[in-house]
Amino acid sequence: IEIGTEATRTGIIETCKKREYISQKASNYSIEALGEKLIENLDKLEINLYADKTVEFSKILKKIYKGEAKVEEAIDMTAEELKGIISKDIELEKIDKNELKEVIGECPVCKKPVYEGEKNFYCSDYKNCDFKLWKKTKRFSDELTITKAKAKSLLSGKKAVFTLTGKENKKFEGYLKLEITEKDGKKYPNLKLDGFPEKKKK
Ligand SMILES: [Zn+2]
Repeated sequence: IEIGTEATRTGIIETCKKREYISQKASNYSIEALGEKLIENLDKLEINLYADKTVEFSKILKKIYKGEAKVEEAIDMTAEELKGIISKDIELEKIDKNELKEVIGECPVCKKPVYEGEKNFYCSDYKNCDFKLWKKTKRFSDELTITKAKAKSLLSGKKAVFTLTGKENKKFEGYLKLEITEKDGKKYPNLKLDGFPEKKKK
């Protein structure tokens, strides 16, 4: 299936990512709960998302480009399509974006739910609380990657294991725990070393 034209495809995908309809991991895209809701709603509105409609529209656009059709024809087609949708007077449930989001844990500052963003895990009450746990977190000379599983552990007060760099650049495995430190009246998340996993016996 093709989405839009080559020129508009990147923009469409970026918009879908920004609106949290889809997410991207490396070169894979997955649909999010909000995206599923959107498709459900488009279905309810009987909006034709299928290829034949797109083909119909691209044909007329190509004709206009070649001077074989007038712009008005495409506008009329669009208007007809929209009139068809509106005249059905279908009611939709309001989507609460937050209800669809997976709760990663409880905010250690204000106890509200924490959600996953593109680059961090953030407090759902972000208007009043600026707690954020960055997926790429610098700790001394290490850049740690906080995965969703690790964020869940850390937010529930548990330890998570990370590869850390010690003296003379030696790597070692250590447990980190999330702590909130207060500085100048502001609260910051802090990853504190809290023990080491047992060495595996050889
Ligand atoms: Zn909070």
